[in-house]
Amino acid sequence: MTDRTTQPTARSTALLERARTVIPGGVNSPVRAFRAVGGTPRFMASATGPWLTDVDGNRYVDLICSWGPMILGHAHPQVEAAVREAAGRGFSFGTPSENEVALAEEIVARVEPVEQVRLVSSGTEATMSALRLARGATRRNKVVKFAGCYHGHVDALLAQAGSGVATFALPDSAGVPESNAHDTIVLPYNDIAALETAFAEHGAEIACVITEASPGNMGVVPPQPGFTAAIRRLTREHGALMISDEVMTGFRCSRAGWFGLEGEQDGAPDLFTFGKVMGGGFPAAAFGGRADLMRLLAPEGPVYQAGTLSGNPIATAAGLATLQGCTDEVYARLDTVAHAIAGGVSETFTAAGIPHVIQWAGSMFSVFFRDQPVRSYADAQAQDTAAFGRFFHAMLEQGVHLPPSAFEAWFVSAAHDDQAVEQVLRALPAAARAVTA
Ligand code: PLP
Repeated sequence: MTDRTTQPTARSTALLERARTVIPGGVNSPVRAFRAVGGTPRFMASATGPWLTDVDGNRYVDLICSWGPMILGHAHPQVEAAVREAAGRGFSFGTPSENEVALAEEIVARVEPVEQVRLVSSGTEATMSALRLARGATRRNKVVKFAGCYHGHVDALLAQAGSGVATFALPDSAGVPESNAHDTIVLPYNDIAALETAFAEHGAEIACVITEASPGNMGVVPPQPGFTAAIRRLTREHGALMISDEVMTGFRCSRAGWFGLEGEQDGAPDLFTFGKVMGGGFPAAAFGGRADLMRLLAPEGPVYQAGTLSGNPIATAAGLATLQGCTDEVYARLDTVAHAIAGGVSETFTAAGIPHVIQWAGSMFSVFFRDQPVRSYADAQAQDTAAFGRFFHAMLEQGVHLPPSAFEAWFVSAAHDDQAVEQVLRALPAAARAVTA
């Protein structure tokens, strides 16, 4: 497999053609379509441990891990057993059930400022609901988000700072009403002065600041010292809430997510959002925080929020088994694997003279194809994305599946064994040659 320079893709190609007829772009989430790197996305047939197997029989070391959830590896025996056991007792009740309580307790026990959570089915739902709660609690409309931070496809949060637009964003996606985007203030990440100016001008109208706890959606761009504390200080001074989006970092960067690494920065965030790892590969997500805020949700309070499949018994079983499986040894293994792979990339790129910088959030990391630190979305955009495309395909052909975009974190799992790591390391020299060719 590692010597291979081309792979059979006939079945993936045929499936993509079939899919395009009935699914826009042939995919159910845009980044899967390979538009950023070109070529044919591989349709997967199965996955186990650190391995993905596609419909043509090619096997890949998986460095996507379903964009974060598969922290224990694919088809982990304990999670699979929990899922089978839950499925044997029914698929969805539409009534409360015990696993929902257990999963909520597990989250509350891990993330100290979180006193209550409400379970939902996706990260998007979590951020959308947290936003509604913040607006309901403060009776204000405006929200501040940062360019390059992704919080799911919530209308108000898709807004990005268009070039030349000082503060108020124009809609970044068709179908988002301008009135909606008008209430979203988009600021550059890691820019305390911009935050201070926004609060000086609009402080009395701002319901909340939402931020990725440590952004991973423009590649990994951790907060600079003092930035998270500035968000906390300014929101508090102006009566706004702080929402820390830990959908990606939650339970991955540490037992308590990014919060577990960084701790309180001039105080804890008011609300958190979670997803990915806490669903173990199934649709489960959550938002939570201080009990006095969470009690504003229906049925206790006036902020409505609901879901037919919220707290689904199979998803909560998978999430619970996954969180229970996230032991200290698991976090140590994630670190070892991530550092072995990133170290190999750095060594190979340095030897080949390829400009690069590697940035970290716990065991999450990104390789940027530029030689300067990346502190904002503008920095991230100033990298050589074409070089990434060549690197991506050279790795894919040697059996390593990276995220198909230069603006993503690389995810590893505790199931990435030495064989998987070796396969990644062996693929690097040829991939570096493809970059410089
Ligand atoms: N928030 C963050 C930080 C994310 O990374 C994502 C997804 O990648 C979301 C929210 C949205 O989650 P979902 O895709 O489950 O709707």
